Amino acid sequence: MNEFALYFHYPFCLNRCYYCNFTSSVLDESVAERYRQTLIKELLLRSDEPPWKDGTIRSIYIGGGTPSLMPAEYVNKLLLLIRDCFNYPPDIEVTIEANPGAIDAESLSAFHEAGINRISIGAQSLIENELRQLSRIHTSKDIHAAVLAARQAGIYNISLDLMYGFTGQSVNSFTESLNRALELDIKHLSTYALSIEGSTEKLSPPQNSSQPTPDPDLAADQYDALCSIMKKAGFDHYELTNFALSGFQSHHNWTYWRSIPYLGLGVSAHSFDGKNRSWNIPIIDEYNERLERDALPQETVEILSMENVQTEQVYLGLRTSDGLTMTEFEHIINPRELAEMVDSGFLIVSDGTILVPEERWLLLDDIVLKLLSKCDKIA
Ligand code: SF4
Repeated sequence: MNEFALYFHYPFCLNRCYYCNFTSSVLDESVAERYRQTLIKELLLRSDEPPWKDGTIRSIYIGGGTPSLMPAEYVNKLLLLIRDCFNYPPDIEVTIEANPGAIDAESLSAFHEAGINRISIGAQSLIENELRQLSRIHTSKDIHAAVLAARQAGIYNISLDLMYGFTGQSVNSFTESLNRALELDIKHLSTYALSIEGSTEKLSPPQNSSQPTPDPDLAADQYDALCSIMKKAGFDHYELTNFALSGFQSHHNWTYWRSIPYLGLGVSAHSFDGKNRSWNIPIIDEYNERLERDALPQETVEILSMENVQTEQVYLGLRTSDGLTMTEFEHIINPRELAEMVDSGFLIVSDGTILVPEERWLLLDDIVLKLLSKCDKIA
């Protein structure tokens, strides 16, 4: 294997958001301290085994949870160890996720000094009452402070996350959040429609009737407004839910969309070695116990068929503005559906590339389903 992306999962937050579907729990420093040690142990074990051994890293992403709560000296140690374990090209993208209200100027300077050059800030909204409804612990003032502190620390590649499509929000309030986010001179924006999935209900406290729920019709209207505002602001809509100024697309996320291998370390982290996918156990105590016995914390290895891999590549490729190279996939594509969808404006074929036009991206699931109907054509 030549190149792969490296992901670390830090599953601790100051507060647990009711809609959260990530592996995370409220910070208990003694559990977190133990976890930080086992995370390093996993790095050392995995870096010594094929196919990762002697590989070259193409990006590093420290996600969570709230990894901005990691002690800065630990982040420094982690990045030094990665340099020892793998080939580490100069100028690779090294991202840390941060939550406003859970980051300070001193840590940001130390993170930058350690090698962090990109930050993804979980703003979610810049409207106070929406932040309260979403049970976030931060205010819009904290978002401003986090962006300013990151820039002052020397981290200029700043991405914000914003959430939309929930009851209590409106098209206007979302566009207000967007405009306020753009005033912060960000380079990248990731957006998410609120979703509350099965496992969330088990993990979260009982639902309070004032807590927002998903509103798909509102989300569709807001998505239209989002595309138009970001275009006017000069951002490239390079993936279904992601926008970037020129030169600031997320290198790390391209790994997933282009089906390039990635190694995920930490509780519940997923890996893909180019052929098979695997994921770690999702329970922090079990993860710690396994690694303390020098055992790997993998829960499952999924052997992917050629059909699985290619279906996923079609879906992921069509999420992006790069689309799909026709010649690579024409053996699995239904030509009649392709022609019909091109005629009706659901797909574009240009210079040997198949693309979904921006205004049809929300229909992606149906488009892919039709395009791949007749899967018996797969060799
Ligand atoms: S801050 Fe993010 S990871 Fe943490 S509980 Fe909230 S949604 Fe989940």
